[in-house]
Amino acid sequence: MPEHYFDHNATTPLHPEVAEAMSKYILAARVNGPDAFGPQVFGNPSSTHGYGRSARSLVEDAREILARYLAVTPLEIVFTSGGTEADNLAILGATASGKMVGRHLVVSAFEHPAVLEPFRKLEVEGWEVTWVAPDGNGIVHPDAIAKALRHDTGLVSVMAANNEVGTIQPIAEIGRLLKPRGIAFHCDGVQALGKLPPIHPQAWQIDFLSLSAHKINGPKGVGALYVRKGAPMQARMLGGTQERGFRGGTENVLGIIGFGKAVEIIARDGETERVRLIEIRNALAAALRTRIPDLVVNCEGAERLANTLHVTLPACRSDLLVMGLDMRGIAVSAGAACASGSVKNSHVLLAMGKDKAAASTSLRFSFGLGNRLADMDGLAKQVAEVAASVRGL
Ligand code: PLP
Repeated sequence: MPEHYFDHNATTPLHPEVAEAMSKYILAARVNGPDAFGPQVFGNPSSTHGYGRSARSLVEDAREILARYLAVTPLEIVFTSGGTEADNLAILGATASGKMVGRHLVVSAFEHPAVLEPFRKLEVEGWEVTWVAPDGNGIVHPDAIAKALRHDTGLVSVMAANNEVGTIQPIAEIGRLLKPRGIAFHCDGVQALGKLPPIHPQAWQIDFLSLSAHKINGPKGVGALYVRKGAPMQARMLGGTQERGFRGGTENVLGIIGFGKAVEIIARDGETERVRLIEIRNALAAALRTRIPDLVVNCEGAERLANTLHVTLPACRSDLLVMGLDMRGIAVSAGAACASGSVKNSHVLLAMGKDKAAASTSLRFSFGLGNRLADMDGLAKQVAEVAASVRGL
């Protein structure tokens, strides 16, 4: 188990039960020789013969699991290649449908690039976009969304939980604002899946919900978009009629099997795991504060994901901290991404009104499978040592 890995919001290790579920369908062929190529191993889910039907039934089993978890109908689940494709499909597919109320769009300014970039593209193409800033605690207020709405607003997009600072957004309240006006609502649920109690798109009045398997100990390269029946949508990936015609291309059967298993596991273990992770998060925050008195825990006044701790260490460049910890075998993430030697400040912190100094001196710890409460004091000690050496540079 990767116990020095504290970057579970970036990606997660495969759960052993997910690996087992997936390997059953790979190993059947290898272990037992050519005769044992079961129909489930390689059939195309679109084929009508037995091989295809067996693959189809595995895909549909996984779709059922997701649908049950979200309390929606299986027909409303569209499998994709991940969260990025789900976000693109929702935003570009809804706006291309020709069925939107108008050409004005509203999006929160601290979304993941998988949401920001499609909106930027639409803006270039002549759509009007209002970018709504979160407050200093990382919350997008329903009244800020209400203020941005116009008679011609067609689509609003707000994430369920922010990937960097971990704040949980008032999605149900925003949904209540939009529904009576007939405005389509997209929610990026990638970081919320499994880290919150199950999201029920109907109760939250969401039309599109993006999900990704690799954030919940599932495989990489597979995700899903919930598309409410009747929501405005046009396919982006043109080809076959897979996924109700919303996403052409042979399904990633193996990935989908793993995704289904990972969702089964969060349905079973999610609640206990969240309680465990809150303890870990709070223990690390306390231990860091003892060792680094000027450390700031960000968004403490807001509801946050159980697994995410975001801190600022004044006068301590986050890219150097990440490198220093990496040299000790510890994986964390900086609020700022480092590209070709230059540090790019976190757009999330800047959107929250933080200054450049804070945006380049922040660290994110995100916990999950394999992390232990007993290791938090040792982790805080290592962070304090590396921080002291970075400050001494
Ligand atoms: N949305 C959010 C909030 C994310 O955190 C991520 C991944 O970091 C994505 C979308 C993209 O998901 P994927 O990596 O599956 O494309």
